[in-house]
Amino acid sequence: MRLSLSDMTIERAKRREARIRQLEQERAEREAAIFARLPRLAEIKALQAEIGLDLARLYLKRPTRFKMTFEELREWSLRLSQEREEILRRHGIDPRELEVHWDCPECQNTGWIRDTEAGDTVSPPRKCRCLIQEEIEDLYRVAGLTGPLREQTFDRFDLTVYPPENRKHNAGVLADCRRFAEEVADGRCRRSLLLQGGVGLGKTFLASAIGNHAIAARKTVLYFTLAEFIDLIRAEKFDDEADFREAAQRLLEVDLIILDDLGAEKATEFVAQELFNLINVRLNRQMPMVVSTNLRAAELQDTYGERIASRLLFGFEALTLEGEDVRRVLRLRAHGR
Ligand SMILES: [Zn+2]
Repeated sequence: MRLSLSDMTIERAKRREARIRQLEQERAEREAAIFARLPRLAEIKALQAEIGLDLARLYLKRPTRFKMTFEELREWSLRLSQEREEILRRHGIDPRELEVHWDCPECQNTGWIRDTEAGDTVSPPRKCRCLIQEEIEDLYRVAGLTGPLREQTFDRFDLTVYPPENRKHNAGVLADCRRFAEEVADGRCRRSLLLQGGVGLGKTFLASAIGNHAIAARKTVLYFTLAEFIDLIRAEKFDDEADFREAAQRLLEVDLIILDDLGAEKATEFVAQELFNLINVRLNRQMPMVVSTNLRAAELQDTYGERIASRLLFGFEALTLEGEDVRRVLRLRAHGR
């Protein structure tokens, strides 16, 4: 049975809570091991806690344990901190060993970030990127989508697979894709790319390289083919209208959408309408997309209709890979030729 998105939300919260407990437990274990070796550090920690209590007692005008003034307590606490640092340094212990090693230091694994503003006003918490990305990965799972092809990165893009006369042109396409990926990574990308060219020229490779680069910069990315997009909108629509709206909304929020290999499938009127909505809204909001296709302009129009074709051809910047199917070259190389 498929999980709905709201089940996913509960699952996610439980998973995060368990992970936080685990990381805190690991911190406590590291500390215990260090304290066993260096008991003075345990004493310092206990003293610091007592000093903190005494400061509170002083503030509340209650009897204190150490019979010291506010300044004396502060001074003592400072000296203890220095002693602690000195002991750690002398034994070559990184002070971070005594802290929790968060997977996401930004939100300390909670998934939420509170920004404190000037004047002590607290804004409502906002979702951390890690939570947004997790939600998107859940969305992949809900829809049964496969993740981006993570091995395909710019560094592995090999121009020598192209015939010599096409290399200069394709190097330009590669540079344009890199620039686009940088913009997405910096969060300043306001445009979309249409990657064109025949079958086996590396469009999918470039599209996933852009996606991988953006994910490495902690941007949220969704990568799908039209077939997977069809699965997504169908599955969501069948299950629950609220889930569908949430999924559709997510498609509008994600930092980068990659629609790979457009043209491999025909679209029904319903799919064409949803596809048009997605492309149109994101273009209007200047939110980046990468669409790869081996269809030429006229074929795009024949396959998906004039509205989609005209948004793709006029709203997107077209980059065209040239040459012949590189898979043959790669096969020959694999056979040692
Ligand atoms: Zn986070």
